[in-house]
Amino acid sequence: MKKILVSGGGGFIGSHLCARLLNDGHHVICMDNFFTGAKNNISNLLGNDRFTLVNHDVVLPYDTEIDEIYNLACPASPIHYQYDAIKTMKTSVLGAINMLELASKYNAKILQASTSEVYGDPFVHPQSEDYWGNVNPIGIRSCYDEGKRCAETLFMDYYRQNNVRIKIVRIFNTYGPNMQPNDGRVISNFFVQALNNNDITIYGSGQQTRSFQYVDDLVEGMIRMMNTDDDVIGPINLGNPNEFTIFELATKIISMTNSNSKIIFCPLPHDDPKQRQPDITQAKNILKWAPAIELNEGLTKTMDYFKRIDF
Ligand code: NAD
Ligand code: UDP
Repeated sequence: MKKILVSGGGGFIGSHLCARLLNDGHHVICMDNFFTGAKNNISNLLGNDRFTLVNHDVVLPYDTEIDEIYNLACPASPIHYQYDAIKTMKTSVLGAINMLELASKYNAKILQASTSEVYGDPFVHPQSEDYWGNVNPIGIRSCYDEGKRCAETLFMDYYRQNNVRIKIVRIFNTYGPNMQPNDGRVISNFFVQALNNNDITIYGSGQQTRSFQYVDDLVEGMIRMMNTDDDVIGPINLGNPNEFTIFELATKIISMTNSNSKIIFCPLPHDDPKQRQPDITQAKNILKWAPAIELNEGLTKTMDYFKRIDF
C-alpha cells in the first residue's frame, strides 16, 4: 500500500483518480481548496479509512510523508481559470514548486497534469510531444497556458537540478461524470442545455475541432505513467485521437437526449484553438496505452450522470 497525494482531488478528474487509487488498495490524501471541485464528487469516499481529505490551498507549502504525488490542482475550464487569472498563474507555478519541494523532501514520484493547451493554437497537426506550440503569452488564455508551460519547466528543472522523480502527462479534452453543471466546458454546457431544452450555444461557426477522451481512459493512462521506471519522465500525450467538430458534438448531444433545443451561434472567445488532436504514439509504445471508450459510449455514461444530478 502506497501513500498517495492527489492535489485537486475534489475536482472532476481528481475524484475519479482518488476512487481508482483507493480501489487499488492505496492510502489517498485528497488535497483541495474546493474552488472548482465539489464535496459531492468525493462524498462516497469519505467513509473509507484509507481516504483523508485535506482542505488546503496548493499555493501554500504542505508537508506530509508521501510516496507519490499527482498534481492536478488548477481550475481547468476557461471561465474558471479566467475568473482570477493571477490566482490561476500562482496555482500553477507556486503549486508546482510546493509539490516538487514535497516530492524532493521524501524522494516521492510526482506526476504533473499538464495539458494540450501547451500547444496553444497549433500549426502542427496532430500534436506530438516534440512540438513546442503556438501560445499567445499575453492573451486571456495565457494565465492557464503559460502557467502550465512554466510548471513543465519547473518539473524539468527539479529533475535536472535536484534529481526529483518526475512524470509529465499532457492531457487533451477529457469529459465524464463529476463535471460540474456550471463548469462552462463544452460537454457539460451542451448536456445541461439539451436536457433543459434550452438553446445550445456554439461559439463561432462550430467548425473548430476537439478530440474528446473519457475520464476512465485518462485515469488508466495516468496510473500507467506513474508506474513507469524513473527514466520515463515524458512529456507524454494522453488523449483520444478521434476528432470531432463542435457542431458535430452539438448535434450528437441533441439527438441522444431527444432534446427540442435549437443551436445558436455565439461569439468565439479570443485565442480559441481551431483544431486539436493528440498524436499518442508515445503513450502506445511506452505505456502500452490507448483509449478504449469511444465518444458515443462515453457520452451515454455522461448523459446518465447529468440526468441523475440536480441543476
Ligand atoms: P477541475 O476544475 O474539476 O479540478 C481542479 C481541482 O483543483 C478542483 O477540485 C479545484 O477546487 C482544485 N483547485 C484549484 N485551485 C486550487 C488551489 N489553489 N489549491 C488547491 N486546489 C485547487 O478540473 P479537471 O478537469 O478535473 O482538471 C484537473 C487537472 O487536469 C487540472 O490541473 C487541469 O489543468 C488538468 N487538465 C484537465 C483537462 C480536461 O479536459 N479536463 C485537460 C487538460 C488538463
Ligand atoms: N464551446 C462552445 N460552446 C460552449 C462551450 C464551449 O462552442 O458552450 C467551444 C469552445 O469555444 C471551444 C470548444 O467548444 O472551441 C471546447 O471548449 P472547452 O471550454 O470545453 O475546452 P477548450 O477550449 O479548453 O478546449
